[in-house]
Amino acid sequence: MKIIFLGPPGSGKGTLAKKLSETSGFFHVAAGDLLREEVFRGSELSEKINEFLKKGVLVPDKIVVELIKNKIIQNNGFLHNFIIDGFPRNLAQAKELEGMLLEMNSKIDGVIYFQLSEDQAVERLSGRLSCPKCGAVYHLKNMPPKKDNLCDNCGSRLFIREDDVPETIKKRYEIYEDQTKPLIDYYSQKKLLYDLDAAGGVNEIYQRLMKVINQVYHDHT
Ligand code: ADP
Repeated sequence: MKIIFLGPPGSGKGTLAKKLSETSGFFHVAAGDLLREEVFRGSELSEKINEFLKKGVLVPDKIVVELIKNKIIQNNGFLHNFIIDGFPRNLAQAKELEGMLLEMNSKIDGVIYFQLSEDQAVERLSGRLSCPKCGAVYHLKNMPPKKDNLCDNCGSRLFIREDDVPETIKKRYEIYEDQTKPLIDYYSQKKLLYDLDAAGGVNEIYQRLMKVINQVYHDHT
């Protein structure tokens, strides 16, 4: 199955996609992680990408599409169950993805829409701690690491993402409303949209998510 996670920043797409890939073998492609890896690598594009990330605006489609495509191809992702989180984020990207999949005789089976209020999303992002090495995320209050500031998985020192500050969070939310939200109608018209209540604790959301994924499986295979 090929599944997209769609929803506002802070709605838990990355956390849940990681959990699902660890427990159910889905191959996970995270657009934001790919971009941050690229910045970290110090490639030609690093500085340019970082400018967009810091502002909380979308990185140009051409760059993101290329990164996603490479990641999927390198891992033979077309052959596996996969989840893409953070892509597509606008209509042009959605069309690119369709074209990409069509070339491989494949298609999207379901788009899971993580529903969360703006207040709750902002609250989550405001206390988020991220691991620079394995990408795990924590929350200062709701999901603290076992040892202060150290990743439970790999022991690396956690950090606060530069875009997890109030002004940039606000900007990211505006961009989501303006550019990404129209995808809800787009996928709904294609009968691919599945709602997920993304409020609550990770385990609780995970249980709900499994039910939705079973539904996608039932409808599309
Ligand atoms: P969140 O979903 O919490 O905003 P991400 O890590 O998915 O976090 O994205 C962080 C930033 O990466 C975005 O604010 C944007 O600048 C960039 N980004 C991620 N995905 C895309 C995409 N598909 N197209 C353009 N820019 C993207």
